[in-house]
Amino acid sequence: MEKRIYNFSAGPAVLPEDVLKEAQENLFALPGVGMSILEISHRSKTFDKIHNETKQELKSLLDVSDDYELLFLQGGASLQFSMVPLNLMPPKNKADYIVTGSWSKKAVKEAKRVGTVNIAATTESETFKRIPKQEELKLDPDAAYVHFTSNNTIYGTQWHKEPEVGNVPLVCDASSDILHKKIDVKKYALIYAGAQKNMGPSGVTFVIIRKDLVERSQDTLHTMLSYKTHVENNSLYNTPNTFGIYIIGLVAKWIKKLGGLDAMYKLNKEKADILYNCIDNSGGFYKGHAEKDSRSLMNVTFNLATEELEKKLISEASAAGFDGLKGHRSVGGLRASIYNAFPKKGVEDLVSFMNDFMKKNG
Ligand SMILES: *Cc1c(COP(=O)(O)O)cnc(C)c1O
Repeated sequence: MEKRIYNFSAGPAVLPEDVLKEAQENLFALPGVGMSILEISHRSKTFDKIHNETKQELKSLLDVSDDYELLFLQGGASLQFSMVPLNLMPPKNKADYIVTGSWSKKAVKEAKRVGTVNIAATTESETFKRIPKQEELKLDPDAAYVHFTSNNTIYGTQWHKEPEVGNVPLVCDASSDILHKKIDVKKYALIYAGAQKNMGPSGVTFVIIRKDLVERSQDTLHTMLSYKTHVENNSLYNTPNTFGIYIIGLVAKWIKKLGGLDAMYKLNKEKADILYNCIDNSGGFYKGHAEKDSRSLMNVTFNLATEELEKKLISEASAAGFDGLKGHRSVGGLRASIYNAFPKKGVEDLVSFMNDFMKKNG
């Protein structure tokens, strides 16, 4: 078998090796079925079982109550930027958005096509290096909902506690940190996440929606854009990404086997600490982009003194088997994405590589 290298890609991203191996083993024919997951009907008993098991595993990992529906949609998190306002904004036609990075801005752009957007806070003037404090939020108690991005994939910042929004429904884009720790789902009205960062392959969007919000979807909406359609049809109005849902199920079982989301969080914290310690102990050779209390456990962003030195590090790292460290084109520098499935050994090896690089170039 081909040797695997360390994959720091921001998404689609690394998957657990056990999951890849199981999928590979079963790809030719699912045990007892004689056909591959890629070949069976989304309305077959076999897929029905896989679909329900995947939902059940996620429900149990995240401790989701029966007040919520779980959906597997398509169109990425980007389509949710439109579906959220189209379904949830009327009849008030106004919503609060907290802007903490490029993805929040894209969400705002689509919401503005539907109604009035109040920017409750933004840290754009500080190149999104921090999460706003609760006191900074200018929330409208009459807003249809408040939208925020729990982890800012590009800038490497993360909310460590949800914003307090009173009785206004809280909507979260959790694309790049869903399942990285236990959250109190009851605090949320809707959570959405493109699967390709922390859950599975691209092509599936996971949505958790509180049942009472489904009533907001108006009958005039296009069928495929309405949450009501997908809830009433258990995500099977059209053909879902059957393979993606299958892989998400395997990933959920992998997390459960590891000890659930508390164990997952402990491991994520350990991994991030190793890397941030290296940055903090480098005497300024490596400079973290995010302020310390806003740092992401998923995407670690940092710079070196010059762009030239950054390029050198990226190219030497790549030759040594560390792939995907180049920062997003909008911020530059470096970004190490260390999602759930990224191995701790890979973080340790990167840190020794970075320490060596510093010795040679410092
Ligand atoms: C990647 C990402 C998106 C975009 O996801 P798509 O599935 O490509 O539409 C949106 N929000 C966040 C926070 C992301 O990290």
